[in-house]
Amino acid sequence: MNAIPLATNDPPLHETTRPTPPVRLNLPDGGLARTQDELRSRSKGVRESLVLWAGRPGPSDGVDITHVLSLECPASDLRLVVPMSERLAALEFVRREGLLIFADLHTHPGAAFLSEADRARPFGSKEGFYAIVVPEFAAAAAPEGWAMYEARAGEWFPVDVSERIAG
Ligand SMILES: [Zn+2]
Repeated sequence: MNAIPLATNDPPLHETTRPTPPVRLNLPDGGLARTQDELRSRSKGVRESLVLWAGRPGPSDGVDITHVLSLECPASDLRLVVPMSERLAALEFVRREGLLIFADLHTHPGAAFLSEADRARPFGSKEGFYAIVVPEFAAAAAPEGWAMYEARAGEWFPVDVSERIAG
């Protein structure tokens, strides 16, 4: 697991609590491009890849995404497995830094949609957690073609990227 800082990571002023959905994700300048670059370089045009967005509630509305957590996952062009060791490394990192994970993002070879396998094995499923699918191994500029889903009561609902992500 490689934690890529997107912005100055000031320590939390208080206990980090998960905000009530819907959660608006604020990305710093260059954050979307950095995320897409990481997915593209891990996919290399041949395999699925996955990263997480971690951050904390900001001073105003929504949460500030401060890190891209890039996980080392065995994958083919059709399937990706998150090893338990990588999952634990990500959870340990956010615990230590006083952060929360708000979204997972993974690539598909073609169209972006949440597959049956994605729905069966999500990285997270807390209320308001997001699963984002990035088409064509992240070849285009972010967030072109991204499909975003929100977890509500154990189900996944499509939501509008432009309404949930600022940056
Ligand atoms: Zn998928």
